Amino acid sequence: MTSIQQNIEQITSQIEAIKQKCHRTQDTVQLLAVSKTKPVDAILEAANAGQRAFGENYVQEGTEKVAYFASHHPELELEWHFIGPIQSNKSRYVAENFHWVHSVNKAKLAQRLNDQRPEGLPPLQVLIQVNTSGETSKSGINDNEIFSLAELISSLPNLTLRGLMSIPAQTSNYEEQLSAFGELANLQQTLKNRFSNQQIDTLSMGMSGDMQAAIESGTTMVRIGTAIFGQRDYSNKQ
Ligand SMILES: *Cc1c(COP(=O)(O)O)cnc(C)c1O
Repeated sequence: MTSIQQNIEQITSQIEAIKQKCHRTQDTVQLLAVSKTKPVDAILEAANAGQRAFGENYVQEGTEKVAYFASHHPELELEWHFIGPIQSNKSRYVAENFHWVHSVNKAKLAQRLNDQRPEGLPPLQVLIQVNTSGETSKSGINDNEIFSLAELISSLPNLTLRGLMSIPAQTSNYEEQLSAFGELANLQQTLKNRFSNQQIDTLSMGMSGDMQAAIESGTTMVRIGTAIFGQRDYSNKQ
């Protein structure tokens, strides 16, 4: 077994242990393997350990990886999640190549993704990226903008609204982690109540450094990079 495969096993059992500890054994907490900056070989190792869902942050890099696996390993049927910021002129690549997008934060972007989703593909599965803790630097939106954006997404035929995503300010303080995630979980509950006719079932929160607090707060999808693939090298990114 490779170290990536060991890491996946270890994280999967950690997720189970935390779920037990906070009495969430019946709930799904999906593992999204964040493979940004990592080579296709690393993704293949993870896929061979049974991992199916992968997250990418950079449009060009992600698009190349999607194409690589579609042509070399179609049998793996990998599921691709776009989790990074999207510039308008790149939205087409996201609409054409990915199954999920976690970083929708504007009406204009939602509209473009809908219009650019190719005919014949299922709707793009969408999460609205929100800010918690009043943070404005991470390209999310404010609470009061969320519901009008949710309204728009629900009305667009090529998008399916699935819930919320957040990247709270990094902190090693557990109480602060719980507080930011709790805020997001409350918003998700409000969204579910207001859009009870939609399939609002996904709350994307928790990374390598704050997975436990996220699971305790009700996350349904943790986005884990470093703890699976090791430290990233950004030297070839500008
Ligand atoms: C990079 C990244 C992750 C993974 O972070 P790790 O700390 O390496 O687990 C998760 N979510 C988003 C949006 C990211 O950009």
